[in-house]
Amino acid sequence: MSGMINIFQPALGERELAAVREVFESNWIGRGHRTESFESDFARHIGVDPANVTSLNSCTEATFLAMRLAGVRAGDEVVLPTVSFVGAANAVAARGAHPVFCDVDPRTLNPTVDMVRAVMTERTRAVVVLHYGGVPGDIVRIAEMCRERGVLLIEDAAIAVDSRVDGQACGTFGDLAVWSFDHGKIVVTVDGGMLHARDAELVAEARKRAYFGLEQTSGYDQALRSRTRWWEFEISSFSRRSVTNDVLASVGRVQLERLPEFMRRRREVARHYDQEFADLGGMWTPPPLPAGQETSHYMYWVQFEDDIRDDVARELYERGIYTTFRYPLLHRVAAYGSRAVLPGAERAAARTLLLPMHQSLTDGDVEKVVTATRDAVRTRRAASRRS
Ligand SMILES: *Cc1c(COP(=O)(O)O)cnc(C)c1O
Repeated sequence: MSGMINIFQPALGERELAAVREVFESNWIGRGHRTESFESDFARHIGVDPANVTSLNSCTEATFLAMRLAGVRAGDEVVLPTVSFVGAANAVAARGAHPVFCDVDPRTLNPTVDMVRAVMTERTRAVVVLHYGGVPGDIVRIAEMCRERGVLLIEDAAIAVDSRVDGQACGTFGDLAVWSFDHGKIVVTVDGGMLHARDAELVAEARKRAYFGLEQTSGYDQALRSRTRWWEFEISSFSRRSVTNDVLASVGRVQLERLPEFMRRRREVARHYDQEFADLGGMWTPPPLPAGQETSHYMYWVQFEDDIRDDVARELYERGIYTTFRYPLLHRVAAYGSRAVLPGAERAAARTLLLPMHQSLTDGDVEKVVTATRDAVRTRRAASRRS
């Protein structure tokens, strides 16, 4: 909405436009060498070989594909924290498998290894975890535990594009991982996703499945190898079309180059909020990062001692500041048929609010958020204590 301070916002500008113009002028807008370059740039960014990643048209599509690559079948169980993205649970259910929800820590909204373990059974085929707010969480121990039990780990690294543990990128701890470049993320291609697999053969399989299940990559490639009748098909699976294209990839390449600059601003904003809210009674800022962890600062979440979250959200909205809560609890969604009792997540979902966090926030915006939040918390808290 115009005039509102957004919670998330893309930072797209002249450099991205120039990159798009160049693609238009080249007359090759489909999947081509720019897409390949974006994939290698991204591989370098997370410290893996380009053969271990492939781009897709969305993160959700990448998640659906990951379930297939993980061999998730009807009747299998897949464990996810109840604070997960709805598309991840859909990807499980769409295979005829059962999403099994685990609890999260009420302060970090990430699951601990014990919370994941507590709901695993002999039918658990895979575990899917995201990195709440961009914070890696217990990923190292969860990966270790999954490896020991022979269960596949899929990282939903959609919002962890620059998150690390001891220098290792989130998305490289599990067997498979997915990232999002949609309009609300940090690195934006307008729409798009990336998939990483530890096993490069799975990526080769993913590439075929992302393009109708065709064995050959393109007619041009076939012709180059001087085969005749390069227009003929060989099909390895009855798949859809989930590839991205050079227009979007060219935007992604510029965005990846700008990521360090984005991250500098996000860190500044987070530090500023931390300082300004340190002495505000009744409201907590995100817990300090464990040693060795780096976050993408995708979300800045605050939590209230009293039951004032919804009132604070409304008051901020009236003052031109948009806030929200992510991700609404999935064990509460009737369609998944869960009867889990998850008190940590319930507590978090009732008290947590996300404040505006993006690299285009001006100092003035940040001041406005700080002042309005302090005012709202003080008045609402006083009112709730009186009643
Ligand atoms: C945005 C998001 C997705 C989905 O990404 P799309 O590219 O929009 O499909 C998946 N997981 C998480 C945690 C997200 O925030």
